[in-house]
Amino acid sequence: MKNNSSSRRNFLKLGIAAGATALLGGGSVLSALSKVNKPSGGDKVKMLSPEGKLVEVDRGHALCCEVPSSAEVRKGIPGRHFVMVIDLAKCRNARKCVSACSKMHFLQPGQEYIKVFLMQDSEDTSPYWFPKPCFHCDAPACVNVCPVGATFKREDGVVLIDNERCIGCKFCMAACPYSSRVFNWKKPGLKPESNYSPESSVPQKIGTVGKCDFCPDSFVSGILPDCVTACPNGVYYFGDKNEDVVTNGVEALRFSELVKNKSAYRYMEELGTRPSVYYLPPVDRSFPYERGFDELPEEMKKAYKVKRAHLKKFKI
Ligand code: SF4
Repeated sequence: MKNNSSSRRNFLKLGIAAGATALLGGGSVLSALSKVNKPSGGDKVKMLSPEGKLVEVDRGHALCCEVPSSAEVRKGIPGRHFVMVIDLAKCRNARKCVSACSKMHFLQPGQEYIKVFLMQDSEDTSPYWFPKPCFHCDAPACVNVCPVGATFKREDGVVLIDNERCIGCKFCMAACPYSSRVFNWKKPGLKPESNYSPESSVPQKIGTVGKCDFCPDSFVSGILPDCVTACPNGVYYFGDKNEDVVTNGVEALRFSELVKNKSAYRYMEELGTRPSVYYLPPVDRSFPYERGFDELPEEMKKAYKVKRAHLKKFKI
C-alpha cells in the first residue's frame, strides 16, 4: 500500500507539477508546456518524461496502472490542493467541455456534469456565458448531510462520491446550493471492462448521485481533466494551489497572481462554502456573447433565449 501511495505521488510529480514548475522557470521550457497534457488527436496525450523531454503516449499507458486502495482514494494526494480557474472572458459556449466530460464519464443523453448558463448581471449590461462544474467546496454542504459517508472531501480538496455506498437519498442534492449534482435515474452507459472507482465515477450505478469529479484518475497520472484540454479557447485552468500554479495546457501561470491581477471571485462565496473554483470576470471578452448560439441545435437556442427573456422580465 505504501508503494502504491508513493508511486501515485511520483506520477503526479512527473506530470502537472513537475511540468508546470519547470516551465514557469524560463521561456524555453514555457513553450514546451504549451503542448503538455494536450491530447493530440485520437487517444494520445503528451507528457514530460523524468528526463524533462516531451513524449507522446497512449492515454491508456499514461494512466496510473496501480489500483489505489479505497483508503487512498478517500485520502487523496497529501500536500496538494487542487483548484480550477475559469476565464469567463474567453468562453463562447463552444460546449466542448460539456461533451468531453460526458464522453469520459459515459453519461446518458441529457445528463451533464458541467452546465453552461447564459448570465446577465443587470438589464444594462451584456450577457455572458458561465460554465459551472462542481465547485469542490472546502466547506461542502453536500458532505455534511450524507447519512452513510458516501460523499467525502479529500485532503487534496477534491469532493467525490462513492456510488457503492450511496443509497440515493438525495440529501446531498438538496444541500448543494449550486445544483451541481445529478441523479442516475437510468441504467448508465457502461465503460467496457472497467472496475468502478469513485476516482473515475464509472461505471455509474442506477439510483445513485453523480457529479463533476475533477478527474482525479487523470491528474494522478499528470493528465489534465478533459474539460480543460477539450476547450478550444483555453477557458479552464487547473492546478495546485499549494504549488501556486495553474495551466490550461497552453500557458502555465502563478495561481496567486492570476486571481489577484484579474480580480477573480468565487460564485456565491457569501454562503460560506469556500469553492475551489475561481472565476475571472467577463471583461475585454474574446467573443461577443452571440457567438455562443452559432453551433447550437435549434432546441437549445430556444431554451437559452426563453431563459434570458425570463431573467429580463424579473430584472435578475
Ligand atoms: Fe458539494 Fe455542491 Fe460544493 Fe460540489 S458545489 S462540493 S456538490 S456543495
